[in-house]
Amino acid sequence: MLRFAPSPTGDMHVGNLRVAIFNYIVSRQRGEKFLIRIEDTDKERNIEGKDKEILDILNLFGIKYDQVVYQSSNFHIHQQMAKKLLEEKKAFVCFCDEEELKFQREKAKIEKRPYRYSGKCENLTKSEIEKLMAKKKPYVVRLRKPSENIRFKDEIKGEFDFSPFEVDSFVILRSDFTPTYNFACAIDDMLYDISLVIRGEDHLSNTPKQIHVRNALGYNKEIKYAHLPIILNEEGKKLSKRENHASVKWLLEEGFLPDAIANYLILLGNSFEKEVFTIDEAIEFFDLNKISKAPAKFDLEKLKFLNKEHLKRIQNISSLLGYNKMYEDLLKIFRDESVTLKEIKEKFDKVFKKAEDNEFKEEREILKKEILEKELEENYDEFKKRIMKNTGLKGKKLFMPLRELFINQKHGAEIKDLYKAMKPYLKEVIKKR
Ligand code: GLU
Repeated sequence: MLRFAPSPTGDMHVGNLRVAIFNYIVSRQRGEKFLIRIEDTDKERNIEGKDKEILDILNLFGIKYDQVVYQSSNFHIHQQMAKKLLEEKKAFVCFCDEEELKFQREKAKIEKRPYRYSGKCENLTKSEIEKLMAKKKPYVVRLRKPSENIRFKDEIKGEFDFSPFEVDSFVILRSDFTPTYNFACAIDDMLYDISLVIRGEDHLSNTPKQIHVRNALGYNKEIKYAHLPIILNEEGKKLSKRENHASVKWLLEEGFLPDAIANYLILLGNSFEKEVFTIDEAIEFFDLNKISKAPAKFDLEKLKFLNKEHLKRIQNISSLLGYNKMYEDLLKIFRDESVTLKEIKEKFDKVFKKAEDNEFKEEREILKKEILEKELEENYDEFKKRIMKNTGLKGKKLFMPLRELFINQKHGAEIKDLYKAMKPYLKEVIKKR
């Protein structure tokens, strides 16, 4: 089974979506199940409703999953496992309070060495522990650091080797007995028989800790890892959650199509024979082992290009935007000159508004009167001939106000094409100017 494990702590980032897409593609390629695990271990940071939002986004992108689980529903299992590790002395209770830990961290800073747990509570005797517990002193549970290096091979980045010092005796249960991320994640990957974890490279340093948890619990089935390179912004820095285009919601609101966003994220930093494709098409040729190891820059221009390509593929643009079918031809004209759905909508909505521009106001009035007074000709050339003859207008003074009467814009599509597309409702539109 593969899994996507989002934390419901914020808006879905393009990096998270890319992880979801890659996991989905690989699960399909291997014929394995796909699990969504909502990682809600950090009660303080969880935001109500974010889980639903994440699932809605996955649905919108056509990412199908077999099961959704909430990590918090397994807390009792995580606690049982911690108990087992305590009984086996692989874990120990730690009474170091915030003050003590702060002191240790500052000491490490002064001594210019990375902070690691001091080992203070590692060897407390049973009676010392009982005494402290009787005093109701809060405690956490730490997993004893491994005795040997933890080695693993990442499917994308190659071999890694972490020393016990790097893994450290880290906290597995907080003082309120909720499990920490690394502990819960390691156990859940084991419980759900995960075969391969694809996630962002910011989790690389968590991997030896998670392997160590499972080793300590005696789980010896190998879980493979593939850590995806980070996404950079246009300046080459890590794409921050606060940057607009990092948010999937923002991209959707701006009118980028799910198919184009997914296409872009699969393509990002990689090269395939095809450039324009859907997720389902990518299942045919995607190869996780050939993913680029280097971080890739987010390029909004490339996404815009792909959006235009995917817009061309849309058969029924009126129904996608929720407009009456009679506007299909006009919407197609706007589609061909737009980059996003938002742009198409803005152009379309403008058609039904009153003209605000004062330039060519007089010409507009003359043309409006002429058009509304007579029957519209079948053919545009005949229409044009009559209008030119009866109004005496020509050149810029004819075409700009005419286009404004049609679509409320001076520049844009050929009037001939607009005439053909808008004829059934042209007079209604012109009346509004
Ligand atoms: N919950 C983690 C995150 O949202 C993912 C953890 C994982 O994939 O193991 O970054």
